[in-house]
Amino acid sequence: MNDPAHMTSDEFRRSGHALIERIARYMEEVENYPVLSQAAPGSVRARLAQAAPEHGEPFTDVLRDIDEIVMPGITHWQSPNFFAYFPANASGPAILGDLLSSGLGVQGMLWATSPACTELETHVLDWLVDLLDLPDRFRSSGAGGGVIQDTASSSALAALLAARERASAGAANEHGVGFGAEAGGGSRLTVYTSRHAHSSIEKAVKIAGLGRDNLRLVDADVGHAMRVDVLESAIAADRAAGATPAMVCATIGTTSSGAVDPVRAIGEVCRREGIWLHVDAAHAGSAAICPEHRGLNDGIEHADSYTFNPHKWLLTNFDCNCFWVADRAALINALSVLPEYLRNRATESGEVIDYRDWHVPLGRRFRALKLWFVIRHYGAEGLRAHVRRSVALADWFAAQVQESDEFELAAPVAVGLVCLRHRADDSFNQTLMDRLNRSGALYLTHTRLDERLVLRLAIGSPATRREHVEAAWARIVETAREITAEAPRD
Ligand SMILES: *Cc1c(COP(=O)(O)O)cnc(C)c1O
Repeated sequence: MNDPAHMTSDEFRRSGHALIERIARYMEEVENYPVLSQAAPGSVRARLAQAAPEHGEPFTDVLRDIDEIVMPGITHWQSPNFFAYFPANASGPAILGDLLSSGLGVQGMLWATSPACTELETHVLDWLVDLLDLPDRFRSSGAGGGVIQDTASSSALAALLAARERASAGAANEHGVGFGAEAGGGSRLTVYTSRHAHSSIEKAVKIAGLGRDNLRLVDADVGHAMRVDVLESAIAADRAAGATPAMVCATIGTTSSGAVDPVRAIGEVCRREGIWLHVDAAHAGSAAICPEHRGLNDGIEHADSYTFNPHKWLLTNFDCNCFWVADRAALINALSVLPEYLRNRATESGEVIDYRDWHVPLGRRFRALKLWFVIRHYGAEGLRAHVRRSVALADWFAAQVQESDEFELAAPVAVGLVCLRHRADDSFNQTLMDRLNRSGALYLTHTRLDERLVLRLAIGSPATRREHVEAAWARIVETAREITAEAPRD
């Protein structure tokens, strides 16, 4: 039998240099690509070899196919003209941190399987408590602590599992089955979030097996923030019907419009009612790095858990979600199981954190490296400058919309997010968006607010400068005028 042809360290060096060079060139050229991939469905697969190769191929061939086959199927999230969804920042230090994580190839499920993987993570999350001015109760030195998860969706699920455990503890039978039909109607658990909350909350409710019928989508006010009076009535009605309210999820910066729920008032309700409060600040949470945006954090000292995504707006490549709990025992109780093969002296000493107990998967990557690289490279000052530039550009764009006769703002301007619409009807706005996106010059997405189609322009790419936002605005206006001129509409 032949030995497998491992890449030698010299080949790795050569190929690695070539790949880094390719990435650096990509960063320089990304602006020139059509932002939204123009690939037709199936067109990428049609160009791939029918079967996997029997014999290994040179890395240079693989790199060639990156250019010829893969690149046409890429939507350029790092383009300065990408304004869709929310940004998914990448940066040099984060890419290098990810590369080092791959290079070390460690699996950090237990403290003992790589102490640095756990301790660096705990430490960097404590740093972020300072940097974002989060409540002290989230620090690892007390009863709480932070962990890096893959996504805000996973954090919502982890929060709900902990909330479920806590809420069902009273009513639970001795097997720990405290929810669902088996435990009897008396311990049916209910969850509350705003109509404008992210779909990951509904997904978490489904996965946790609470039943979609036990999720309450609370009405919002004119600014699309949760109405606390409606929340309180829903809780009272559920209690009267014999249910146990388990969790409220408040959003700081909704995905649709950037609305901020009244977290302080919601938190007071949760305290009074003994309900777990999860706060989802996936996008807007990054803004709290700037003192002038700390108002966003108002009331989060009431939260049992809090999450935001450095992989959106804080220059750290996907995936990197930060999740804090005020009482880590509640989370660990919900998720910990200890088979014989994972037993070890450090765990038994109780002196260490084993992050496997803080989320659903067992295995975990060394994600703290990229976040640490980012914070050390930019410093707090650099991170603040990045957020400030995005916010200023979004504010400038919003001012143009406000001054225009043809367009209007469709929601209050949020940090780094502008919701706008042409004063014509939904189909006009849809045509406008489709045409803009097809042009390749920029990419934006839509939502629905107050029954109307609304365009969202999110600014947060480190490459976006004033000239890109000016060009985007000019093109939006010009394209709208073309459509108006073309089609007499009835
Ligand atoms: C983007 C977003 C999410 C989901 O983020 P993932 O990390 O992709 O799961 C959740 N909540 C809000 C408010 C978001 O904007």
